[in-house]
Amino acid sequence: MVEGETAEDHSGSSVLGVDVGGTWVRVGLVSQEGKVSESRRYIMDSHSQKSTLDSIETALAHFINFWKGPKPLALGVGLVGHTRPSAGLWVLAMNLPIQSSVPIRRLLREKTGLPVAIDNDVHAATLAELRWGMGKGLQNFVYLNIGTGLAAGMVCDGKLLRGAANYAGELGHMVVDPGGILCSCGQHGCLEPLCSGAGILAQVRSGLREYPNSSLFRAARGGTLTASQVFQAAEAGDLLAGRITGRAVQALSTALTNLVNLVNPSAIFYGGGVVGDGWLMGKVSEFVFANCLVAARHALKGIWASRFDPEQVGLVGAACLAWDYLERRRESTKMGDKN
Ligand SMILES: [Zn+2]
Repeated sequence: MVEGETAEDHSGSSVLGVDVGGTWVRVGLVSQEGKVSESRRYIMDSHSQKSTLDSIETALAHFINFWKGPKPLALGVGLVGHTRPSAGLWVLAMNLPIQSSVPIRRLLREKTGLPVAIDNDVHAATLAELRWGMGKGLQNFVYLNIGTGLAAGMVCDGKLLRGAANYAGELGHMVVDPGGILCSCGQHGCLEPLCSGAGILAQVRSGLREYPNSSLFRAARGGTLTASQVFQAAEAGDLLAGRITGRAVQALSTALTNLVNLVNPSAIFYGGGVVGDGWLMGKVSEFVFANCLVAARHALKGIWASRFDPEQVGLVGAACLAWDYLERRRESTKMGDKN
C-alpha cells in the first residue's frame, strides 16, 4: 500500500470498485451517485500471470481488512484486455501477462464473499460516462481513452456496443499505417503504437539515435519523460518531438474521422494521461470537424474532456459494473415476483 486516506464511514450503501492497471491496482468505495468515498492504490507486480492475480487479491484483502464501515453491496472489476462478463472470465490481456483464461469472478467471489461483476476497463468507463458522466441522457457517444494504451467505448442507441465477443472498441488496433510500427497485438501499423503513451515514449527512445541533440534526451534516458513533455518540445521546435507528434496527430485524426463517419456520435468524450493537457485532442478535433461527412459533423456537438478525475475514472467505471449488476438483479427479482 503506498497511498491512502483516513478510513471514514460515509454510511449508506456503497459498492467496491477495483481498477486493475499495468502499474497500480486501485481499490475504493463508490456511492450510487458515482462518488468515491474512500480509495487506495497498491503496486501491481506484473511480471507473471500469477503475480498479477496475486497483486489483485492482496490489494482487495488489504482494503477489506482496513475498511471498518458497512459491508459493500457488491464488487466491480475493470480489467485491461478481453473479458467475458457473462462467464466471469478474463480471457486475455496484452498490456498485462494474462495468457490463459482466468475465472476471475469466481476467484474474487470466493475471496470476498461479495457478488462480483467484471468487464473491460474502457467498457466500464464508458458505462460510467453513460450513468453519471457527460454521456448521461445521450443515445450515441464515444468515450476515448488514451493512456498507456488506447481504446474506445461506443454507445449506440443508448447501449454500449459490445460486439460478438465483447471486444468492440479496440480502436488502438485500427490499422492506419499498413506495414508501420510493430504493435503489442503482433500486427504492424496499428494506431496504438503511434499515439498511446507507451507508443510515444517508445518512439522517442528509438528516435534518439537519429536525433542525439533532441531536448528529450535527458528525460527519456532518465525514465521521467511524459507525453505532455513531448508535445511541449514539438511546440518549441524539437525535430524528433515534431516528427512523432506529427504522426500521432495524423493517425489519430484519421482514425477518429473514420469512427465518426462510421458510428455517427453526438459527442466524443476523452480521458487518460496522454490527453490530459488537451494538446493532442485540440489538434485532432480541428481535423475531425473539417473532414468528416457533413451530416455526421452537424450531429457531432463537440469533442470534450471527460469530467471524471483521470486518477479515478477506472475505479468509478469498475464500481459502475457493480451498480449495473445490482440493478439487473433487482429487476429480475421483480420479474420473478410478478410471475
Ligand atoms: Zn495492434
